[in-house]
Amino acid sequence: MTFTPTDYLPYDFANRRHIGPSPAEMEQMLQVVGAKDLEALIDDTLPAEIRQKTPLDFGKPKSERELLHHMKVVASKNKVLTSLIGQGYHGTVTPPAIQRNILENPAWYTAYTPYQPEISQGRLEALINFQTMVTDLTGLEISNASLLDEATACAEAMTMAQRVAKSKATGFFVDENCHPQNIAVMKTRAAPLGIEIVVGNPDDLDPTAVFGAIFQYPGTHGHLRDFTAEIAKLHEQNSIAIISADPLALTLLKEPGAMGADIAVGSTQRFGVPVGYGGPHAAYMATLQKHVRAMPGRIIGVSIDSHGNRAYRLSLQTREQHIRREKATSNVCTAQALLAVMAGFYAVFHGPEGLKAIAQRIHRKTVRLARGLEEQGFKIEPEAFFDTITVEVGPLQEAVMKSAVDEGINLRRVGETRVGITLDERTRPATIRAVWRAFGITDRDTGLDAEYRIPEELLRSSDYLTHPVFHMNRAETEMMRYMRRLADRDLALDRAMIPLGSCTMKLNSAAEMMPVTWDEFSLLHPYVPADQAAGYSEMITDLSAKLCEITGYDGLSMQPNSGAQGELAGLLTIAAYHRENGQGHRNICLIPMSAHGTNPASAQMVGWKVVPIKSAQNGDIDLEDFRAKAEQHSDNLAGCMITYPSTHGVFEETVTEICKVTHDHGGQVYIDGANMNAMVGLSRPGDLGGDVSHLNLHKTFCIPHGGGGPGMGPIGVKQHLVKHLPSDPSSGEEGAVSAAAFGSPSLLPISWAYCLMMGGEGLTQATRVAILNANYIAKRLEGAFDVLYKGPTGRVAHECIIDTRPFAESAHVTVDDIAKRLIDCGFHAPTMSWPVAGTLMIEPTESETKAELDRFCDAMLAIRAEIDAIEKGEMDAENNALKNAPHTMEDLVKDWDRPYSRETGCFPPGAFRVDKYWPPVNRVDNVWGDRNLTCTCPPMESYTEAAE
Ligand SMILES: *Cc1c(COP(=O)(O)O)cnc(C)c1O
Repeated sequence: MTFTPTDYLPYDFANRRHIGPSPAEMEQMLQVVGAKDLEALIDDTLPAEIRQKTPLDFGKPKSERELLHHMKVVASKNKVLTSLIGQGYHGTVTPPAIQRNILENPAWYTAYTPYQPEISQGRLEALINFQTMVTDLTGLEISNASLLDEATACAEAMTMAQRVAKSKATGFFVDENCHPQNIAVMKTRAAPLGIEIVVGNPDDLDPTAVFGAIFQYPGTHGHLRDFTAEIAKLHEQNSIAIISADPLALTLLKEPGAMGADIAVGSTQRFGVPVGYGGPHAAYMATLQKHVRAMPGRIIGVSIDSHGNRAYRLSLQTREQHIRREKATSNVCTAQALLAVMAGFYAVFHGPEGLKAIAQRIHRKTVRLARGLEEQGFKIEPEAFFDTITVEVGPLQEAVMKSAVDEGINLRRVGETRVGITLDERTRPATIRAVWRAFGITDRDTGLDAEYRIPEELLRSSDYLTHPVFHMNRAETEMMRYMRRLADRDLALDRAMIPLGSCTMKLNSAAEMMPVTWDEFSLLHPYVPADQAAGYSEMITDLSAKLCEITGYDGLSMQPNSGAQGELAGLLTIAAYHRENGQGHRNICLIPMSAHGTNPASAQMVGWKVVPIKSAQNGDIDLEDFRAKAEQHSDNLAGCMITYPSTHGVFEETVTEICKVTHDHGGQVYIDGANMNAMVGLSRPGDLGGDVSHLNLHKTFCIPHGGGGPGMGPIGVKQHLVKHLPSDPSSGEEGAVSAAAFGSPSLLPISWAYCLMMGGEGLTQATRVAILNANYIAKRLEGAFDVLYKGPTGRVAHECIIDTRPFAESAHVTVDDIAKRLIDCGFHAPTMSWPVAGTLMIEPTESETKAELDRFCDAMLAIRAEIDAIEKGEMDAENNALKNAPHTMEDLVKDWDRPYSRETGCFPPGAFRVDKYWPPVNRVDNVWGDRNLTCTCPPMESYTEAAE
């Protein structure tokens, strides 16, 4: 008997698994778009002069099993010791139920930023729990739902203080007890804005010289201090007081609000989020109600839906870059939503008594540890502490550090003669004995009961976490169901395509995700000695080389934690380059009006002036306008920021010309790499003339969006900028943009795995299919909707913009109505009203199958037919399925008096009958929520209501 070979592509083959359409489906799609084959379509779409000359070659792609084996080999080169280094990073125990049901659950990690509140009620509730936790613990009135890390939160607080302070002083005081990485990032951010940073002892604070001051609590070496007096002095001068506080310590210690602080920031990492060699974790910021409009980042608020029921949404979005551009409160776009959700759940799991018990145990262990050392004659600082002590060891520093490592423990080197120790939730009696042994104490028992070392007047006297959500029955059954209920309210990639233009919501494969939670990656402290992180180093070196190869750049920094942070880092390299050449005065940045809002917001942060450039009729950058502005500002031109392919979804042929004009006038070119999904393997920004670009690893390179973060925005640069890349934050010196040298390195296995499993050809094929999928949608919608911009051959790139503005006139139908009606069809709406108001930008990505693309097109065409009926007067212009969308199950079972059937309302084309997605609320009222601002958990009555 013989076997006939089949053309079956094994699932294990990434090319098949990651790419949606099967080879047969691609054939059919190519026929629809009218291209002979895929290569012909690409030839039509990409101008020949921008095509890269040599194909990407990363060797033979790995299968899933090969990848996971390889990953394990590399991971095991990281040495997992117990790190008692502290400095803002702490061992923590992730409750297994949170790890499994949230961190490892695609319903949570594949969700998008909650711009469409009706399909985001679950994560919005989880995030409002986080905000409630933060406002309670800090004793302030309002909180945002996460910033990128503690160091950037400090810097954001500094610039916010400058915005709200009535004091006109130009100085900013930084407590010398701040963590060095916080000081480093504040210095970086202060310099271009002309803020003079004074680092010193709070005793020497001169409140007349500063518009604000920041204190660390507890201090980086463990000091506890009541800042009430300093804060009162600052307030007398109309200056702003900021406290960077450890939220776990605040369960025992007097809270910043009680000391009079205006702003509190910090990291919620130790609320169940693994250290991960630096990240990701969620930083927080809280402030007083009166300053809320100046606060950066996402704020979740409570509003009502069209039936008056409670519904959550993003508040005060008018502060953000997509509306305010260079006048925005910050450039923060992607934040740390998934990690904030985890930290919020950690508080829900433990409740106030649980958190307090964890903090007390840590404190008692620290006291025991200190007692043992004191009895042996070591001098301990400070006298009062929470979890951190510093031990004077004189000439023994090296010896103690080394024998600690031999015991499997990392301590912190402090100056020349001292050693720092910070205990945490993972510390066991055996850990304490091992530390003692490193100090030569071998015969001591940990059993002693210990006293408190927190002074009476610093003990917290107020309540926190009083809301019922923090007092649920903590049986895991209840917790599991609460997490499931919230997840079920949301529409994430695990249920439907999320066709978000510019945001590239592609597959985040399970195999890519698995290594993230391995101990070898998740338990490393960011400041461990290099020899303990050899696995990380190998991965980062190889991934960086691959990303340089893909982009055509010469050097890369993994430090930025988001695309916007990458923009800032990239612009800083340009500014440093100009200074180096005696051109430090250059401060004009040309930015097309169609640019993403983070572009102008980032340019403003380096102190540049934004000069907007018009778009031509066909959507391209208006070359004449560009030339004229470059000419006009020639002497002061710092550079330009452009996006490629353009935000209009077209490969502009003029890109090389724009780069040349910029260079001719002495400027540098920043190419926003958010659209790399249309380029990988086909074209390289470095070859087009770009000097620097960021890559959104959470778009093109498979890191999941997490409902609004985490992300990674590494920057690639040309050789002349390499020496200006971000510096090591632990130095405490200007030049770092994030708290950890490699940003959020525990996410990097995802992007690395993607590259290794796809290989060069697989990555290129993904780009081709992304372009095919977009052109297929454009073709199928042709006639029903206008595709706004196309290349000269009638093709779009990896996304397309459809115009819905004519329907406002003809049928009273807005882009909002269409977006909400798509929810009834079981879809997340495309990007709305950007880069052109009243349009939808659709990006399907390569990961969606033909069936899913067809389901989407059928839904869009049915919506067009509904608009038709209104246009023809066959359907009421105000009471119709579009205006009433989305429809809830409540609508279906209630009295029905509408001029269309329940069937039409609830099951339009696209909607599944059995697996129908039901939004939990009707259309959310945005204006009501901003007028009646509430950003903490609403009272319990509304919970029982919702549960009924
Ligand atoms: C997403 C995006 C950004 C910002 O990235 P974040 O990670 O959200 O900060 C910048 N530019 C463009 C074109 C984008 O699509």
